[in-house]
Amino acid sequence: MFGAVRYLGHHLPGGPEDQSAGSVIRMIVVRPNIMGRLIGPPPGRVKSAIARACQSLRFGQIGRMRESLRIEIAGAGIGGLSAAALLHDGGHKVRIWDQFDAPGPVGSGLVIQPVGLNVLDAIGIGHDARSRGAPITRMRGHEADHGRPVLDVRYDAGAPGRTGLGIHRAALFDLLWQACRVRGIPVETGALATGRDGTRLCFADGRLSDAGDLIVDATGVGSPLSPLVSRPLPYGAIWGNVDWPETALPRDELRQCYRAADRMIGVLPLGRPDGGAERAALFWSLRHDRVAAWRKTPLADWRAEATALWPEVAPFIAQITDHGDMSLALYSHGTLRKPYSDGIVHIGDAAHRASPQLGQGANMALLDAQALALAIRHADGQDPLALYAAARRWHVRVYQLFSRVFTPQYQSDSKILPWLRDRALFPLSQVPPLPRVLGALVSGTMLPPVASLTRR
Ligand SMILES: Cc1cc2nc3c(=O)[nH]c(=O)nc-3n(C[C@H](O)[C@H](O)[C@H](O)COP(=O)(O)OP(=O)(O)OC[C@H]3O[C@@H](n4cnc5c(N)ncnc54)[C@H](O)[C@@H]3O)c2cc1C
Repeated sequence: MFGAVRYLGHHLPGGPEDQSAGSVIRMIVVRPNIMGRLIGPPPGRVKSAIARACQSLRFGQIGRMRESLRIEIAGAGIGGLSAAALLHDGGHKVRIWDQFDAPGPVGSGLVIQPVGLNVLDAIGIGHDARSRGAPITRMRGHEADHGRPVLDVRYDAGAPGRTGLGIHRAALFDLLWQACRVRGIPVETGALATGRDGTRLCFADGRLSDAGDLIVDATGVGSPLSPLVSRPLPYGAIWGNVDWPETALPRDELRQCYRAADRMIGVLPLGRPDGGAERAALFWSLRHDRVAAWRKTPLADWRAEATALWPEVAPFIAQITDHGDMSLALYSHGTLRKPYSDGIVHIGDAAHRASPQLGQGANMALLDAQALALAIRHADGQDPLALYAAARRWHVRVYQLFSRVFTPQYQSDSKILPWLRDRALFPLSQVPPLPRVLGALVSGTMLPPVASLTRR
């Protein structure tokens, strides 16, 4: 029976400092101690039933009493800031911690898909995001040597008026940051998380957060809190931000050009991130073991190669005058089977990572944040973290699978995959109903993104 007490205590959210449900359960379980000695330790099934009851007791109280949780969020990126805003709106006391000394993310552009835009609307910044980005109606790619189209996905296939949003990462960050500031959410900067002690975050400078009810790990790909071990992908990309030049390229399409799968260049419209000039993100696929060589190659050689591949991008490329104008992004792939454990939940890249080929990473972080806030709100006696994981499980798994299948067609050394892509998969993709299916795939609506929680 003492085993059961330890087992339960260990599984209580909040660890040793957490008195509320822990002491109730200890009373219930310790009293029949003599009985326990007579009948021996409970079988595993009983243990887990008691553990479930314990979780229910703790979170059931929260659900019924609308208790305000104390939540420490590590990471003020896309997932962390959106979780903070949504959890605050759910009546919880949140605090954000980030390693940066001053806000201001580096990086380039990304596409927020329609499902992600819904989350921005829920936070109250959807309108501003749309005004600081560019609506994307279509994703198109062509093969360099013959100019053949090899990718054509329309957002509005089967859903008139549906668009994605090309946006500069700094503009999105700024909006999320302001959303947290106006809500009065405290942010601690210069706080490099190194681990945790129960529900306290530990930082490199010796600081500790308060012991709250829950830690939200939103520290992204390098999370020191997540057990996820991801597989590095051979290809990453270099990204740069440029002004939108005089060009015939449409302002509402993500365009790419490929040679086999080992060369790819792309242009993503970003609208007017700071209300001034129209901007674009320029990206060039690069194998990670060729990055050092690229940095040593005269820039003129790279510009000549890229322009020869796709002459229309010459006015974009001409704006890159230094290797430092392009920043490197390495990609990796992996998914946590269980994105939570005692007192901690992982969201965004800390829970799952993929190449940005399908443009879903930021959306996944936004959806995770939304699912977590909804799960806590609707727990009603169930473990909200299990509810969160269940709500996101299939959406995450299916998109991770598609990302794994699609990425090597566009970024790999394979000769067969791009051949199949150009001659079989692209023609097939234009046959109804596949245009609709692909439209739903990039929009993030292949499956309900927060499953059971939307039906409540
Ligand atoms: C080049 C590139 C292009 C992309 N394009 C797209 C796209 O088109 N569409 C899309 O949806 N997604 C895209 N993604 C993916 C997307 O950017 C990520 O999936 C998304 O930012 C994940 O959000 P997050 O909150 O998990 O992590 P992040 O946004 O990376 O935030 C993590 C935060 O945690 C902080 N942090 C990290 N470690 C610690 C620590 N130890 N202690 C304290 N703080 C810490 C960081 O400073 C940061 O603020 C792209 C990614 C890259 C690299």
